[in-house]
Amino acid sequence: MFCVKCGKDLESEAVNGLCMDCYLNGRSLLHMPHHVDLERCTNCEEYRFGDRWVSMGEEDALEETALGAMEVLPDCSIEAAAAKAVAQDERTFKVYVEADIYVNGCMVTETGDTIVRLKNTVCRKCSRQLGNYYEATLQIRSGDKELDDGLRDETVRRVRDSVEIQSKNNRQLFITSVKQVPGGVDILLSNISLAKGLAKELADAYGADTKESASLVGMSSDGIDIYRLTYLVRLPAYHVGDILEWNGSPCKLQSVGRNGGKIISLTNFREASVRRSDLRSMRIVAKQDDLMEAVVLSKSGGEVQVMHPKTYASTDLKVPDDAEIGDTVMTVQDDEVLYYVP
Ligand SMILES: [Zn+2]
Ligand SMILES: [Zn+2]
Repeated sequence: MFCVKCGKDLESEAVNGLCMDCYLNGRSLLHMPHHVDLERCTNCEEYRFGDRWVSMGEEDALEETALGAMEVLPDCSIEAAAAKAVAQDERTFKVYVEADIYVNGCMVTETGDTIVRLKNTVCRKCSRQLGNYYEATLQIRSGDKELDDGLRDETVRRVRDSVEIQSKNNRQLFITSVKQVPGGVDILLSNISLAKGLAKELADAYGADTKESASLVGMSSDGIDIYRLTYLVRLPAYHVGDILEWNGSPCKLQSVGRNGGKIISLTNFREASVRRSDLRSMRIVAKQDDLMEAVVLSKSGGEVQVMHPKTYASTDLKVPDDAEIGDTVMTVQDDEVLYYVP
């Protein structure tokens, strides 16, 4: 086999009967632009690729940019490529690439290079966040006078976790700020439907009431009214783990949902479902934090004898048959009677 043009002996590199030199005829399989710009957000340090912002290391971003700038002749395809960035100064990098290029049955290795220029900018998300942009406020309040610290931290953590997950698919979703205010906490959010979804999430998790209100804050340049939404989430006074009075006897609140909750009686340890309206009317015997630990003195069958945590008198407690009793048990006192809390 000889090259039909120059007559050179053909080994493996034959394209359409031509040797590679004659096929290329002065062209290069691989073309690199003289330089490419790579935008980096100075705030979140993410890099821009097209219309996406990606979190990655600088070296990877530089190499990715150079690899993305490679162009090959129309009848060629890049099978594999590698890049190596060398800094020229803080913002300028020479990136060398090597690519295995497939052309008409042949694999050819070509090299090239380009300059990648790092451009500092601020991405849209950060510019909004830095500008304290927000569309909605989530107001978390309690049915009690004050939102207790534990519950406040728990709900704020829940909101943060939820926003973090949702923002993975949508960079426009973020928390602008979290502010402690008298009676609770205000969370400013970048997006109305994000706030609405979070309000519902909290309502479902805590059996909370929600109220939506809108206020007109101005007009956009194209004449559309701009509203800010406020979602008030009022957490009920009761909380999972609290002891409530139901039909005259104390019960532990096991779980709550949007429509009500589950309780377990401390007198017969039977479980029951109760409606939200019932929950609201129940007296709170003790908050979860008010439960008292009592030292177990002896146990037999459905009863244990404990040292009363206040009077230190030995006291009998009724416990469920299947209860696993350790060295201490949790108890609550109501009307001079001490109860075991499962
Ligand atoms: Zn030839
Ligand atoms: Zn950013």
